[in-house]
Amino acid sequence: MDKKRNVLLVFGIIVFIDIILLLFVPGCSQTKSITKNDYAMGVYVKITAYGRRASEAIDEAFERIREIENKMSINKDTSEVIEINKKAGKEWVRVSPGTYYVIKEGLKYSKLTKGNFDITIGPIVKLWNIGFENARVPSKEELSLKKELVGFDMVALDENDNKVKLNKKGMILDLGGIAKGYAADEAICVLKKHGIESAIVNIGGNISVLNTKPGKIPWRIGIQDPGKKRGDNLAVLSVVDESIVTSGYYERFIEEDGRLYHHILNPFTGMPAETGISSVTVITKESTTADALSTGIFVLGLEQGLKTISDMEDIEAVIVDNKKQIFVTPGLKDRIELTNKNYKIIFTE
Ligand code: ADP
Ligand code: MG
Repeated sequence: MDKKRNVLLVFGIIVFIDIILLLFVPGCSQTKSITKNDYAMGVYVKITAYGRRASEAIDEAFERIREIENKMSINKDTSEVIEINKKAGKEWVRVSPGTYYVIKEGLKYSKLTKGNFDITIGPIVKLWNIGFENARVPSKEELSLKKELVGFDMVALDENDNKVKLNKKGMILDLGGIAKGYAADEAICVLKKHGIESAIVNIGGNISVLNTKPGKIPWRIGIQDPGKKRGDNLAVLSVVDESIVTSGYYERFIEEDGRLYHHILNPFTGMPAETGISSVTVITKESTTADALSTGIFVLGLEQGLKTISDMEDIEAVIVDNKKQIFVTPGLKDRIELTNKNYKIIFTE
């Protein structure tokens, strides 16, 4: 009998404490998050934000992402980039400041990676069309003709007027390797403007986080296991107020005669980049940088890729090769946790 009374008493106290907590702990309701998903920029987009104005903030972030897509996509009939491409070899085109900025940044990273990342890769991308129904393996002759039209040094910029011109007819700008990063930066910017202090934006694997999770807990972001289905991680990274972007061969590809052809192309050969790398993850403040460099380093390969990273400041990388080795830059030593023990972590100098 006594025992039963004690149990009831303890139960009563727990309920009482819960009610007190609900009534009096300040800010409890503010730590609730809102998540919205939608399809944009050809990928699945997911935004989670904490704060009173989270819902409007997320809606406006989605609007901004769509606006960027409408201006920069080459898969829309009307976009500023389409306009530039139509007037290749003929006329200058004035664009909005955002598009100008992305093209300028794109050219900066094209130069930095010595053309391994190249925003003028469009003619070759269109030839393969990977990710679309009519994707196919092009012939050597077709590739060598189109390669003539690739070269970031054939893009002219007029800073005073936000004008862009492609010097040769047939050239095609393709911002597919950088625009999602810019969209993530802009989405974070919109969320901040609404007073959001904690958020995560995921544009098809292009992830940016704002601050920590509530309670000063770092965000934990998984790096996809290239050999497994989506959502299976090989490692997890702690990230705070930065972006983490992965380029992997497994994202989009076609199979022909038992061979796999993926969507990250080597601008010099016109073929999918084959450097023994399965994925490159870049972690840095700006998602625009992380996006361009994850694609660029995938093409550059391990050695030159790591050199590019170590020559820059405040930028880290995780490079996975096809021998189950994970190369990790020094700044991530205390921030990475291996979750698939079949892989081996190697810390670089
Ligand atoms: P994802 O789009 O899967 O996130 P990336 O950011 O790596 O992957 O970008 C790949 C896209 O970038 C391709 O679909 C193509 O439009 C473009 N691209 C492919 N190869 C290159 C390259 N060497 N330089 C610049 N852009 C590229
Ligand atoms: Mg990229």
